[in-house]
Amino acid sequence: MDLGIRGKTALVAASSKGLGRGCAMALAEAGVNLVLNARGNDALQATAAEIRARYAVHVTAIAADITSEEGRRAVLDAAAGADILVTNAGGPPPGLWSDWTRDDFLRAIDANMLTPIALMQALLPAMMERGWGRVVNITSQSVKAPIAQLGLSNAARAGLTGFVAGTSRQVAPRGVTINNLLPGIHDTDRAISLDSGVVKALGITMDEARAKRMADIPARRYGTAQDFGAACAFLCSQQAAFIVGQNILLDGGATNATL
Ligand code: NAP
Repeated sequence: MDLGIRGKTALVAASSKGLGRGCAMALAEAGVNLVLNARGNDALQATAAEIRARYAVHVTAIAADITSEEGRRAVLDAAAGADILVTNAGGPPPGLWSDWTRDDFLRAIDANMLTPIALMQALLPAMMERGWGRVVNITSQSVKAPIAQLGLSNAARAGLTGFVAGTSRQVAPRGVTINNLLPGIHDTDRAISLDSGVVKALGITMDEARAKRMADIPARRYGTAQDFGAACAFLCSQQAAFIVGQNILLDGGATNATL
């Protein structure tokens, strides 16, 4: 399907690996020029090089911490005037509700709520002026159904979700859509790190931990970065113009809910 966005420019934050990389790949396949970002330069340059080799799009790669003001400034300087914004950052560490300190909460809120909000505040005005824009925030299934050991994620992402619910309705009249994509378990470094937590907690092997987590997913597998990227690129398409302020689960059916 032609997504109708060839020649547009996207900022995809935290995109050298995993879900952000999947979004970048799918947008590049649709002909979108990219500003990529991650902290580590090696994986970032490798992803940029792979995209340049596969697709005829322009790729700029900015190594910076997107959760810091200085890092955001560097990324936004390169992405000024972007038509599409995909927000993303690393997820907070797992733990127990009683152990997290104020600083733990502030770090999670900074990364998974205030950083995407700052990126939107920076890029939405120009999108609205041009009468076209797309924002996709990578959040988590924990927004719909809390994950006990990921309380920092449950809390911070709920804040972002509330902001998007209100803001998306204010920018939609100017041709700009904002939606959230809620990943369930996808086969990325993040999943491996959470699998390792299950290995440690239950004293089982990595294969057993993955089989145990897959058994809870009706699709009986983890999602892939390609699955995720395809959904992200569709939300950025011309065809998705009427999808506004939604929270779309990509979890293989894992969240057991009617709505
Ligand atoms: P991942 O495979 O660990 O990849 C994270 C990417 O983000 C890497 O490119 C990493 O590169 C970059 N990154 C991390 N922190 C950054 C920062 N402060 N500034 C700039 N770049 C940063 O993670 P993922 O699985 O794609 O997860 C992406 C998001 O989705 C996370 O917030 C995660 O919690 C959430 N999520 C994932 C799953 C899942 O199953 N995979 C499920 C639910 C929610 P550098 O480390 O080099 O910076």
